[in-house]
Amino acid sequence: MSLKEKVFWLDTTVMPSEENLHDLPAKADLVVVGAGIPGLSAARQLAIRGTSVAVLEAETIGWGASSRNGGMALTGLKLDAALVEARYGHDLTRQLFDDSIASLNTVEQIVSHEQIDCGFARTGHLLLANKPAHYEAMQKEAEWYSQHFNHVTRTVPRSELQGEIASQVYFGGLVDEVSAGVNPAQYVAGLAKAAGRAGATLHPHARVLQIDKVSGGYQLRTQGGEIAASQVLVTTGGYTKTATPSLQKRIIPIGSYIIATEPIGENMARRLIPHNRMVFDYKHFLNYYRFSADHRMVFGGRAAFFPETPSTIRDSARILQHEMVHIFPQLKDVKVEYAWGGTLDFPFDQMPHTGQLDGIYYTLGFAGHGVALGTHLGLKIADAILDGKVAEMPYAAYPFPLAPLGLYNGNPWFLPLIGLWHRILDILY
Ligand SMILES: Cc1cc2nc3c(=O)[nH]c(=O)nc-3n(C[C@H](O)[C@H](O)[C@H](O)COP(=O)(O)OP(=O)(O)OC[C@H]3O[C@@H](n4cnc5c(N)ncnc54)[C@H](O)[C@@H]3O)c2cc1C
Repeated sequence: MSLKEKVFWLDTTVMPSEENLHDLPAKADLVVVGAGIPGLSAARQLAIRGTSVAVLEAETIGWGASSRNGGMALTGLKLDAALVEARYGHDLTRQLFDDSIASLNTVEQIVSHEQIDCGFARTGHLLLANKPAHYEAMQKEAEWYSQHFNHVTRTVPRSELQGEIASQVYFGGLVDEVSAGVNPAQYVAGLAKAAGRAGATLHPHARVLQIDKVSGGYQLRTQGGEIAASQVLVTTGGYTKTATPSLQKRIIPIGSYIIATEPIGENMARRLIPHNRMVFDYKHFLNYYRFSADHRMVFGGRAAFFPETPSTIRDSARILQHEMVHIFPQLKDVKVEYAWGGTLDFPFDQMPHTGQLDGIYYTLGFAGHGVALGTHLGLKIADAILDGKVAEMPYAAYPFPLAPLGLYNGNPWFLPLIGLWHRILDILY
């Protein structure tokens, strides 16, 4: 089979079929812009609570990062909690960390309640040290999490790592049993169907071009016509563009890429990663990988920083296969069947943000950590909007920064510099 430049997960999934979707209504109580995990989770909750809600999506339902990701539903935030605590203090950090643990329960409850067949399993995650110093840092982190947050993780020295992974390249690891894996496209399809069952209407090919404040709410001009809304929630992630200029200036779109091999059989898969964990390493230019339900190695990384194009996908496929075989020489003759890319939403502070800008609600900035947290924040912001408590959410308690010196207006000219900087950091630390 030749390489398919498409998302493997989508080949396992039936998204809501377009015939069953609705024409754009003239108005809704609330319009959600972007049909990814947080947008659909919010729409489901809003509809359950009796709000009329329309979800507008520029492409197809679940088209963005939400069905292209590694399917790792992880504890914690993008940044290490000790760093978050140094910035924002203990109490807020505790709230954010507790929320990250709660987000796994939220996913589990929704999957079970809505009977979403997406392979959700609490297989835990394995963080791996690329250098001896990384393992020392992990030991400190494990101790810190246990002392400060009562959260138990387990460090694994290099001599015992074979019990977790059949690779010789790492210097130790850390296991967190709370994290889980899902098939992300099946999950996002299930969320979309659940939102639809609750009464939300879903509108693909309805890119929002402009949002105007009018008396009593907002008027949205879209590719598919106009719609009026009392309130608007934006969840456009790394694909945030000119329709919401204040948000666009706060989000850097960064590419991440994944390959999937041919199926290698259960025995071989269990030999390589015995507990079927969600695995990632400690580098800035990190690799992340896991097995699919049909035992393909799904192997991702930030092989290029630019968002996906046919040429970045092809280049990344080559780089990722090389990295994969370096880690697992056992896979040198295994064919790569799929390669794809997606765009992450990185804020300048690498923290998730929810709140209100120019009167419009938003939840975004997941920086590669949005499968579980995006589900949770979607649900929480829906409740907070209806209860008038968005400003009290912990993610609204710290500023949502613009670029230093205002040097960014939505064109990420500095991505090659960030890429270079990360490579230097990986050499130094
Ligand atoms: C390759 C990759 C791997 C990742 N791996 C993981 C992982 O393993 N674990 C994890 O937790 N997170 C991971 N992430 C991040 C995770 O996928 C996201 O944080 C999460 O899906 C939340 O996505 P979102 O809905 O905010 O954005 P998206 O899923 O990108 O959705 C945004 C949607 O908004 C739509 N849109 C944009 N502008 C408009 C407009 N004007 N009008 C209408 N619609 C619009 C887009 O078409 C898009 O469908 C990964 C991301 C990528 C790209």
